[in-house]
Amino acid sequence: MAHQWRGVIREYSDRLPVSKSTRVVTLGEGGTPLIEAPALSQLVDGEVWVKFEGMNPTGSFKDRGMTMAITAAVEQGAKAVVCASTGNTSASAAAYATQAGLTCAVLVPDGKIAMGKLSQAIAHGATLLQVDGNFDNCLDVARKLSENYPVFLVNSVNPNRIEGQKTGAFEVVDALGDAPDYHLLPVGNAGNITAYWKGYQEYSQPYTNPHPGAVPAGSEPVELPAVATRTPTMWGFQAAGAAPIVLGHPVTEPDTIATAIRIGNPASWEQAEAARDESGGMIDSVTDEEILAAHRWLSAREGVFVEPASAAGVAGLIKHHALGNVPAGKRWVITVTGHGLKDPQWALRNADGSDVEPQRVPFDVVAVAEALGLA
Ligand SMILES: *Cc1c(COP(=O)(O)O)cnc(C)c1O
Repeated sequence: MAHQWRGVIREYSDRLPVSKSTRVVTLGEGGTPLIEAPALSQLVDGEVWVKFEGMNPTGSFKDRGMTMAITAAVEQGAKAVVCASTGNTSASAAAYATQAGLTCAVLVPDGKIAMGKLSQAIAHGATLLQVDGNFDNCLDVARKLSENYPVFLVNSVNPNRIEGQKTGAFEVVDALGDAPDYHLLPVGNAGNITAYWKGYQEYSQPYTNPHPGAVPAGSEPVELPAVATRTPTMWGFQAAGAAPIVLGHPVTEPDTIATAIRIGNPASWEQAEAARDESGGMIDSVTDEEILAAHRWLSAREGVFVEPASAAGVAGLIKHHALGNVPAGKRWVITVTGHGLKDPQWALRNADGSDVEPQRVPFDVVAVAEALGLA
C-alpha cells in the first residue's frame, strides 16, 4: 500500500504514552495542512501560516486528543466515556468511541450548539443530554459523574487529551524546519494552548518518553534529540464576552457567537498562564465583530473556511497589527481550530448583518452573461 498518514499516535508513538501492546483507536487524525496565507502575510509584512485543523476526521483539532484519550480508556478497560462539550468534543468523542465499541454520553449546554456538531454526535450514536446550564456547569457534572460512576471523562482535563493535542506543535516544526517566531490560537477551556506549549517545549529539548513508544515495532526507551532550536512566543485569544483569563476572574454568563470558546472558567487556566508567561506572550480578547471580520477574511481572502471561534487567532493578529504590536519580517503560525461547515450560518451574512441573497436570473444565457458582467 502506498504511504498514507497513520494518525498522530502511530506517527509520534515515541513521544506519546503508548506501548507496543496498545490497541490504537484512530481515524487517521492529524497531518493537517499548514497553509501559507498570502493576504495576511502581506498585511503584516511577514510570513503567516494557518494550521487548518478543520481537516481532521470530525472537523476539529479535538480528534488529536481524542485518539489518545479513547485509546487510553480502552487500555484501562473502559466501557463508557463521558464529556461536556460546546460541540466539537462531543462530535469527536462520539466518533472515536464508536470505533472503539464504547458507549458515549455527551453533556451539552442549553441551546448553544452549532447544528453541524450536534448532528455528528447523534449520527455516531452518542447519548446526548442537554443540561440546563452553561459549558462550565456541564463540565462540573461530567467530572463528578466520572468520579462516582464507571465512566471515563474525555474532556481536556484528561491528560491524554493534552498528550495527543501536543502533536499539532510537532507537525508545525516538522513542516517549517523549526518553531515559528509566534504561535497564535483561540483560547476556550485552554487545553489547546497548554498542549501546543508542551509540544513546542518537548520538541526543543532532548526527550525521553517515560512510556517508550513501540508502535508499530518494539523499542527500548531512547533519548530523542531536540528537533527545534527554539520555542515560539504564544499569543492566545479569548472572545471578549468570555474572557476570564484576560479579566482575571471567572465569567458566570459567558456570551459570544464563537460558541466553541464560550467558556467562563477554563479548566486549564493556570497552564495557559504558564504558556503565556514562559513564552513571553500574551492572552488577550477579541470582540465578536473582530472574530466575524477575521472569519470573513479567512474565507474570502485566504480560501480557508473555518467556524467563527477558529478565527479568533487571526482576529488577534489583525487587532494587534492595527495597534502596532506586530513586528515585520517574522514567521507566524495561527491554528484555525475547526471547519466552517460545522456552523455555516455565519457565511450567509453580509458585514452589515443582513442576509446574503443570491441574485435571481431568468433561464437564459444572455441574462446570465449580463449578470456576470460578461456581456
Ligand atoms: C475546543 C475548541 C476551541 C477551544 O480550545 P480549548 O482547548 O478549549 O482552549 C477553539 N475552537 C474550536 C473550533 C474548538 O472546537
